[in-house]
Amino acid sequence: MPTSIPVLIVGAGPTGLSMAFELKRHGVDFRIIDKQIKPVKTSNALGVQTRTLEVWDDMGLVKEMLAQGCPIKGFNIYANKKQIAHVYPFELLSLYPFVLALSQQHTEEILIKHLESQNVKIEMNVDMIDLKQQENNCLITLNHADGKKETIETTWVIGCDGAHSYIREKCNIPFQGKELPQHFVLADTVLKTDLPSNQVHAFLSEKGPLFFIRYDDKYFRIILEVSAIPELANAKTISYEQLKNLVKDRCFLPIEIEEPIWNSGFWIHERMASTFRQNNLFLLGDAAHIHSPAGAQGMNTGIQDAYNLAWKLASVIKKTSPPELLNTYNQERLPFAKKILKNTTFLTHFVSLKNPFLCALRNLFLSHLLKIKKFRNKVFSNLTQLNIYYKNSGLTKDCLGAKKGPKAGTRLLDAKYNDTQSLMDHVRGTTWCLLVFFDKNLNFSLGPIQETLEKKFGSCVKLIGISLNPLNALMESVVCETIFDINKVLHQLYEIKGTTFFLIRPDKYIGFRGNEKDEKILFEYLHQFLQSRSI
Ligand SMILES: Cc1cc2nc3c(=O)[nH]c(=O)nc-3n(C[C@H](O)[C@H](O)[C@H](O)COP(=O)(O)OP(=O)(O)OC[C@H]3O[C@@H](n4cnc5c(N)ncnc54)[C@H](O)[C@@H]3O)c2cc1C
Repeated sequence: MPTSIPVLIVGAGPTGLSMAFELKRHGVDFRIIDKQIKPVKTSNALGVQTRTLEVWDDMGLVKEMLAQGCPIKGFNIYANKKQIAHVYPFELLSLYPFVLALSQQHTEEILIKHLESQNVKIEMNVDMIDLKQQENNCLITLNHADGKKETIETTWVIGCDGAHSYIREKCNIPFQGKELPQHFVLADTVLKTDLPSNQVHAFLSEKGPLFFIRYDDKYFRIILEVSAIPELANAKTISYEQLKNLVKDRCFLPIEIEEPIWNSGFWIHERMASTFRQNNLFLLGDAAHIHSPAGAQGMNTGIQDAYNLAWKLASVIKKTSPPELLNTYNQERLPFAKKILKNTTFLTHFVSLKNPFLCALRNLFLSHLLKIKKFRNKVFSNLTQLNIYYKNSGLTKDCLGAKKGPKAGTRLLDAKYNDTQSLMDHVRGTTWCLLVFFDKNLNFSLGPIQETLEKKFGSCVKLIGISLNPLNALMESVVCETIFDINKVLHQLYEIKGTTFFLIRPDKYIGFRGNEKDEKILFEYLHQFLQSRSI
């Protein structure tokens, strides 16, 4: 008889490790395997986007991650021997208004350390070699390092097994797309330069782009597009001499380069699975979507796939939500991945233009448009994944339509509302949170809402009252968490007009927005996604 487990995570890259971390946080048992030894020993994915930092804040990892990396707070573009754009600092609406450059090795190390401290074993050198889907579960064969075969039955399979996903292939899920013509090389090295180390530096020319990114106390990542250089157009590595010559050729500023500690060529594919779910099996991260590293989106998207799915799966396994909740994983993440593919391919072509006329046009466009605050903010909010909007998800219900303020489907906006506390300090954790903002309307009482929430949904929904006035008697009479927003910081951020509900999902997106007239719809929403206790 095969042993039976609820969940098997296949792959312990950034996506699989994040899934494991999240399932553990939500109190679900699982096994996690990888056919290789983890963590990776090279820097690989460096750019950690602002939204991922917010996610790590919720997961309780952000301080440790920040301590190991370099915050990138600005972006510079150079062309024709001059600087054509300078964005500093990024004006992002977040408590982490920067991108963190952090070696993937450190990201994986920290995740593994936390998992091991909670007695989660990452089973390394264990290869999944067979998969059969059965009526309500999957039969899996594992191959251990000593050649021993093991058969297990698992209700859920989480495919985080990377770009060449065995799971995706075995399930005949198409992975359509194409290879892009651009070829890049990267090198991690020590640079002697006066360029500010807390900013990215991009040198654009008809020869191909060159980027410098500082990612720890010592090292920079150099990235070069080399498709037009015959001896490098398909290269797996670059020599020290070739690197020095290319940098000298493309960068007009004085720079000294030491011999790289690692270098690699990379080919770019733009491909996406036709579905991220098949019965009891999910695809996440590179198993579901691969694209150009331009804009540093891949690892971030994988981590957020895990953050999106884990709480839903945990709720279904614990029977606090109906199985239909799981449909929203595909509904939300697939359109987002599609958008990422489109944007990263565009970015790759845009920075790699060779035609002199188009290069001149691009440079003119960048130098002018990046001076416009609105344009700048849009570009960087997209790149940092702060603009994720699950507009068409079944989990999104907005009763206020076009009204101002953050809409249902967008992320929780966070800010410090006094010297020491932010909204996140109240909502951090694994439950849903109902934020009730009071304007000046004192005819609304939280008591009945609190009573119904407790009776029907127990500890699944936390109620938080947010009032401008510490003396609001209606708030005091209720034993729920309260925020006194005396400086109006949160009220202004959420553009509050009248008593307003924001129901925050466990992954800190706004599920529902409405005002006091919409209380009935709010409870219908909760009943749809949370199993009501029998009363
Ligand atoms: C040069 C470069 C730079 C990049 N820079 C960035 C960046 O700055 N920011 C960013 O967000 N992204 C970046 N990316 C993309 C990023 O590296 C990937 O998107 C990310 O690593 C994907 O993580 P993953 O966990 O989904 O897959 P992977 O990291 O590929 O992990 C998959 C794991 O599954 C295991 N596995 C596979 N098959 C099996 C099996 N049958 N049984 C058991 N285990 C199995 C593998 O051993 C592997 O450990 C970059 C990529 C490259 C190549």
